[in-house]
Amino acid sequence: MELNKDVKFVKGVGPNRVKLLNKLNIYTLQDLISYYPREYEDRSKPKKIADTIEGEEVLIQAIVVSKIKEIRTYKKNMTIYKLIVRDETECCEVIWYNQSYLKNIFKLGEKYNFYGKINRKIGKVEMLSPVFDKEESTKNTGKIIPLYPSTYNLSQNIIRQIIENGLKEVYPNLEETIPEYILNEYNLLDINNSVKNIHFPKDFQEYEKARTRLVFEELLDMQLLLLNLKNKYKNKEKGNAFNKDVKMSDVINDLPFKLTKAQLRVLEEIEKDMEDEEPMNRLLQGDVGSGKTIVAIIAAYKAVKSGYQMTIMAPTSILAKQHLESFNQILSKYNIKCELLLGGTTKKKKDEILEKLKNGEIDILIGTHALIEENVVFKNLGLVVTDEQHRFGVRQRSVIASKGKNPDVLVMTATPIPRTLALILYGDLDISIIDELPPNRKKIDTFAVTKSMEDRVNNFIKKQINEGRQAYIVCPLVEESEEIDAKSVLELAEKYKTEIFKEYNVEYIHGKLKQKEKDEIMEKFKDGKIDILISTTVIEVGVNVPNSSIMIIENAERFGLAQLHQLRGRVGRGEYKSYCILKYQGNSEIIRKRMKVMQETNDGFIISEKDLELRGSGEFFGTKQHGLPEFKIANLFEDIKILKLVQALSVKIMEQDPLLEKKENYILRKKLEEKLEKRIEI
Ligand code: ADP
Ligand code: MG
Repeated sequence: MELNKDVKFVKGVGPNRVKLLNKLNIYTLQDLISYYPREYEDRSKPKKIADTIEGEEVLIQAIVVSKIKEIRTYKKNMTIYKLIVRDETECCEVIWYNQSYLKNIFKLGEKYNFYGKINRKIGKVEMLSPVFDKEESTKNTGKIIPLYPSTYNLSQNIIRQIIENGLKEVYPNLEETIPEYILNEYNLLDINNSVKNIHFPKDFQEYEKARTRLVFEELLDMQLLLLNLKNKYKNKEKGNAFNKDVKMSDVINDLPFKLTKAQLRVLEEIEKDMEDEEPMNRLLQGDVGSGKTIVAIIAAYKAVKSGYQMTIMAPTSILAKQHLESFNQILSKYNIKCELLLGGTTKKKKDEILEKLKNGEIDILIGTHALIEENVVFKNLGLVVTDEQHRFGVRQRSVIASKGKNPDVLVMTATPIPRTLALILYGDLDISIIDELPPNRKKIDTFAVTKSMEDRVNNFIKKQINEGRQAYIVCPLVEESEEIDAKSVLELAEKYKTEIFKEYNVEYIHGKLKQKEKDEIMEKFKDGKIDILISTTVIEVGVNVPNSSIMIIENAERFGLAQLHQLRGRVGRGEYKSYCILKYQGNSEIIRKRMKVMQETNDGFIISEKDLELRGSGEFFGTKQHGLPEFKIANLFEDIKILKLVQALSVKIMEQDPLLEKKENYILRKKLEEKLEKRIEI
């Protein structure tokens, strides 16, 4: 069976639908059958009309007693089509608007299934715009119906039909993808029934079994991949042992401030790794503003004074420049030479840098992705640091590491992941955590406000600017590439520029601008030439503008908490009291709870835990915002039990059969190789 065949060959998929499916990242039959439902509607259990409750969506089975057609002229000639139906308990009015085709469908005295929302009024029961079937048919009712996440212009009915057609082609001939001994040991459902029942379960028990198996498999594949990477590092030849006589404490004692206990502990862990011959592979996790850069600087000192070069890669030029300043501030007095390499560095300058890098005149090279390019050659690279790692994939990390001879690698991230998860997810790295902010950090006061507060908020911004401060205004973005987001920033910028804040310097920045333009605007903002910077989340990562004291987030309900926290971390970096104002819409309990979390705590770890906990099903922001791998079906919070089982299992497998050579593990190896080949980013 051709799981890789183009989805256009599936029954019901014409040229138009192919395009729409592609938009959902569905290209092949395999993609199609693994496009899992977001939720399910139980249309399988009928209720008596008398037992229905106001507002519920429910299935009733009733006989048509009369048919009524009304035309209401006062509302643009709306046609109302009404049936009176009854079961043995009560009557119900079934109502549709502007669906004139219905008039020939129903027959008096016959029984139908209706599934829809109940509206109870005094003396009568109504059901509005239900789906329906003739009694014995189960096209739309009488079963559990899957609802798919996003469908562009495909209706739920159509996508459901296409997936059903796809399933018909594969079921029951899918090849098993989990070894039998594992299926047996963990009592997992086979692949064919799992795939079938995740889409079209007969009951929720069937669904649970299918889901458990698919989650188990997804997590197992991820764990094996991580452990495989870790083994690769471990099995590598020896790395560098840095000089024990070059002491980090030499720099530490000379700093203008005292390091926190957490920073000192982390440095100790790093120093030990560096002195060891085995190459370091360490993740340094610390909340925004916890002081990771200085840790990198001190490690760099040790590397350079031991006779090696060091490099640090940042996700944006502005951050790289910021790092250069910080590095020079601390290291220039030790006669350590730092240089900056960016995508925009002129050819002449670049050639000069590359030359000096090769002959060892440059000790530390700071830069962006430009560092990865092939012609960047070090004389003796001993330590590689990547900053804000969720912007880079594992692969980029390893490309830059390959420029040295098994160099030590330190990956820094501000993504606060719950500890339990970090240990599991970063299975390929050792972990150090800075769980303490430097003293004298002022709490950022956070307020969640609705539309009605808008004027007060605007006045507050003006007041802050009049006192000399600067403000960020962030609008949501679904995906950096989407036209629509750029537009929303532009519209907002226009309104703020020409109306509300017309007497101030207002600028905007978004993902569609060229890197150079972005850098220029950020530079101007840093220099205080812009009062209000309107942006998408491009400003999310580590930029330091101590004079900015106010962060406004529009449509805050559309961001994940972890991301809100990151954004908030852009202010409160200087001596000024800082504020974060979350403008939100909507009144659901989840939204209010989430806003409350933001108001109550500044602790990134607590926030990340709450984030996973409070993420309702069907929310559109994904795990990407956490810097966590994206899963098709697993939910790291709900599935922590399975994750633990899987972790123990994968460790056992990798101990007994590290290269997955045993016959029973053949399927696992095949999947792993495919992943490595496709260079899936984790
Ligand atoms: P992040 O962890 O978000 O990358 P940075 O490394 O940018 O944070 O540090 C934020 C600011 O805090 C910098 O200005 C840095 O100099 C300062 N800083 C770092 N450690 C300390 C400390 N122990 N005491 C006081 N200030 C510190
Ligand atoms: Mg940083």
